Amino acid sequence: MKDKIVVALGGNALGKSPLEQLELVKLTAKPIVDLIADGHEVVLAHGNGPQVGMINLAMSTAAGSEAGTPEMPFPECGAMSQGYIGYHLQNAIREELLNRDLQIPVATVITQVIVDKDDPAFKNPTKPIGAFYSKEEADELIKTKGFVMIEDAGRGYRRVVPSPLPVDVAEKETVMALVEKNHVVISVGGGGIPVIQEGNKLIGVPAVIDKDFASSKLAEILDADYLIILTAVEKVAVNFGKEDEKWLSELSIADCNKYIEEGHFAPGSMLPKVKAAMAFAESKPGRKSLITSLEKAAEGIAGKTGTVIVAN
Ligand code: ADP
Ligand code: MG
Repeated sequence: MKDKIVVALGGNALGKSPLEQLELVKLTAKPIVDLIADGHEVVLAHGNGPQVGMINLAMSTAAGSEAGTPEMPFPECGAMSQGYIGYHLQNAIREELLNRDLQIPVATVITQVIVDKDDPAFKNPTKPIGAFYSKEEADELIKTKGFVMIEDAGRGYRRVVPSPLPVDVAEKETVMALVEKNHVVISVGGGGIPVIQEGNKLIGVPAVIDKDFASSKLAEILDADYLIILTAVEKVAVNFGKEDEKWLSELSIADCNKYIEEGHFAPGSMLPKVKAAMAFAESKPGRKSLITSLEKAAEGIAGKTGTVIVAN
C-alpha cells in the first residue's frame, strides 16, 4: 500500500560537524530512498540541536571578537541550519534517487512554525543553547542582552531558551502542493523556525521547538498515514539501560500513559518521541507511529521491527 509518511531524522542521521554530515547523509539517504522506491510519499523532518548551537556559538563569538561581525539573532541561526542541513539532505537524496533511475525532484522548504505567545514554556525556558560562560560573563549577558542564563551541570553558565509546542506550520500549503506533485520535501527542520503571529506578521522568537513534536504536527496537517521517528535505538524500552530492560514492539496509548507515569522515558530524548508518536496516532483513526533506528527503517515499515504506537 502506498502511504504518506513523515520521517523525523534524529541527531545520528546528521553527525557532529558539517563535513561529517556531508558523508553521513549519503547513508541516511538510502533508507529514505528505499521508502520512496517502494512508492511511498515521503516528507522529511530533522533535528538541528548541534548545528544551530554551532552556528549560534560561531556567530556570537565572532560578534564579540575583533572581527566585529553583526549580531545574528537566534531564529536566523535556526534558518541557517535549516538551509545547510536541507542542502545536504536534498543533495544526497537526489543522488541516491538518480542512482536508482528515479527522476523525482527533492527540495527543502525553509519552514516557520507558529507557536502560542502565551505558551507556558515562555515563562520557563529549559533548552540550553550555545557556549558556556563564567558567572561574571553570564551576569553581563543577563544585564546587556536580557538572556536567561542557568548553571549547566557544573560545566558553567549557559543561555536557555523556551521550548514551546508547535501550533501550525506557516508553509503547509507549499509543502502539501509539492507532496501532491510527488516531490520529496524536507520541512520543519530543527522543529521549524519558531514564530509568533501578530496580525499579518510572523515574528521570529528565540526558542527551540522539539523536532519530534513539530514532525507529529506536520504529519497531522498533511493527513499522513504514518509518522516514523528514526533515532539511535531500534525500539523503545521499559527499564531502559537497567538489568530488566525490555524492548517493546507495540504500545497502545494506555501503555504509553502508564509507562510515562512510571518514568520509563527520559525527558529530552525518548519522552518527546513517545508523546509525539501518541499525539499523531490519536489524532485520527488509522494513523500509526513508528519509532525505530535509521538502519532498520525499511524493516520497521515492513512490520518486522521497531515500536509501533497505535490508538487503543
Ligand atoms: P534524537 O537525536 O534521535 O532525537 P535522542 O538522543 O534525543 O535522539 O533520543 C534517543 C535516545 O533516547 C536513545 O538513543 C536512548 O539512548 C534514549 N532513551 C531514553 N529512554 C529510552 C527508552 N525508554 N527506550 C529507548 N531509548 C531511550
Ligand atoms: Mg532528541
